[in-house]
Amino acid sequence: MTEQRNDVDEILSAIRAAARRVTVAKRTVAEVLCDANGHLSADEITTAVQQRQPEVSPSTIYRILEEFEELKVVVHSHLGQSAAVYHLSGAVHGHLTCEECERTVQIPASHFDALSKDLQKSYGFLLDRHHVAISGWCALCQAAQLKRS
Ligand SMILES: [Zn+2]
Ligand SMILES: [Zn+2]
Ligand SMILES: [Zn+2]
Repeated sequence: MTEQRNDVDEILSAIRAAARRVTVAKRTVAEVLCDANGHLSADEITTAVQQRQPEVSPSTIYRILEEFEELKVVVHSHLGQSAAVYHLSGAVHGHLTCEECERTVQIPASHFDALSKDLQKSYGFLLDRHHVAISGWCALCQAAQLKRS
């Protein structure tokens, strides 16, 4: 898809703009992130990268993810108890994670507009809409709970 190509190119030009080297490993991590639909843990990224470039080590991939976060092309989030997940910074949204079944739903970040304004006004606090998921119980698990009681 042309859109994905553009995303890869954007990441590579951000690397060059920061006067860093573009390597095959970095290009492959960028491709994996752009091809991904949703959230990938560092382990999943490592598996996908090694399918394309078997010689790239996990520690190299971790360093690349750190570098991409520094360059603000990638962000990570924490969804429930599982490992941090990564995606492109252009795809920022909110997360609702169910404490029972651990399913995560992505929601538009605009749901936090009112809360965000309120916190800014009352506490001068700037809300990060993406970093940590909102935890609670999904509709299905609530329904199952009702049936049991
Ligand atoms: Zn974090
Ligand atoms: Zn997300
Ligand atoms: Zn649930």
